[in-house]
Amino acid sequence: MKRVGAHVSAAGGVENAPLNAQKIGAKAFALFTKSQRQWAAKPLTEKSIEAFKANLKEVGIAPEHVLPHDSYLINLGHPEPEGIEKSRNAFIDEMQRCAQLGLKLLNFHPGSHLGKIDEAISLDRVAESINIALDQTEGVTAVIENTAGQGTNLGYTFEHLAHIIDGVEDKSRVGVCIDTCHTFTAGYDMRTPETCEQTFGDFDRIVGFNYLRGMHLNDSKPDLGSRVDRHHSLGLGKLGLEVFKYIMNNDHFDEIPMVLETIDDTIWAQEIELLYSFEK
Ligand SMILES: [Zn+2]
Ligand SMILES: [Zn+2]
Repeated sequence: MKRVGAHVSAAGGVENAPLNAQKIGAKAFALFTKSQRQWAAKPLTEKSIEAFKANLKEVGIAPEHVLPHDSYLINLGHPEPEGIEKSRNAFIDEMQRCAQLGLKLLNFHPGSHLGKIDEAISLDRVAESINIALDQTEGVTAVIENTAGQGTNLGYTFEHLAHIIDGVEDKSRVGVCIDTCHTFTAGYDMRTPETCEQTFGDFDRIVGFNYLRGMHLNDSKPDLGSRVDRHHSLGLGKLGLEVFKYIMNNDHFDEIPMVLETIDDTIWAQEIELLYSFEK
């Protein structure tokens, strides 16, 4: 079955996230396990960890259907020694927090070359960062998200994702998350059943559905190929609803967390309902 939810708030403690997910009828969710705009974070308390696990059980969402997102500060492809060191340490900490919570996935943006090194070199650094993190942690899969390719960000082509995966030693603990807004603004059309078929066919050929661990379901404010990352509520942007109908009726998207990062959280419950209404 399809596991649809949203990136919910963890304000007041990670243990609140499952409850926030339940309130909107979610069968999956994303969260930050620490403030997404700060480097340092206090360790999770035993009390918070236990409450999170209890609440997750209570709301009936499996750990496999939770897709934590790392801090936006982390750049695993950083061109400079100090920057990459700091990012790798923070990423390992994020992986460990997920493991403590009994979670299986950690979603992150690949990184940025900052105009200082070639894309390919920076992608190699991302793969090496993943290798280091996987080596020092257990049970959590590194889930690379495709990006809109804004600025000097990596990860805006399926080839970039494949390049990173290629450099990861333990292929059983690396996967990808496809964001529909990012895919579209990176230049992959999905506005009709035919273009969905084409784009996801390309994805399968270049990356492979066997690596798909999650989806971000967002409409897009900017146009196709604009390389700008601005989400919109479903059906209100330039992408439109066809892609979501396609996803909700395709077996490749079964049993993975699919989360909204749309801009109006007051209508998330309706958006989730809308998505399930597309199932035939
Ligand atoms: Zn996303
Ligand atoms: Zn985005």
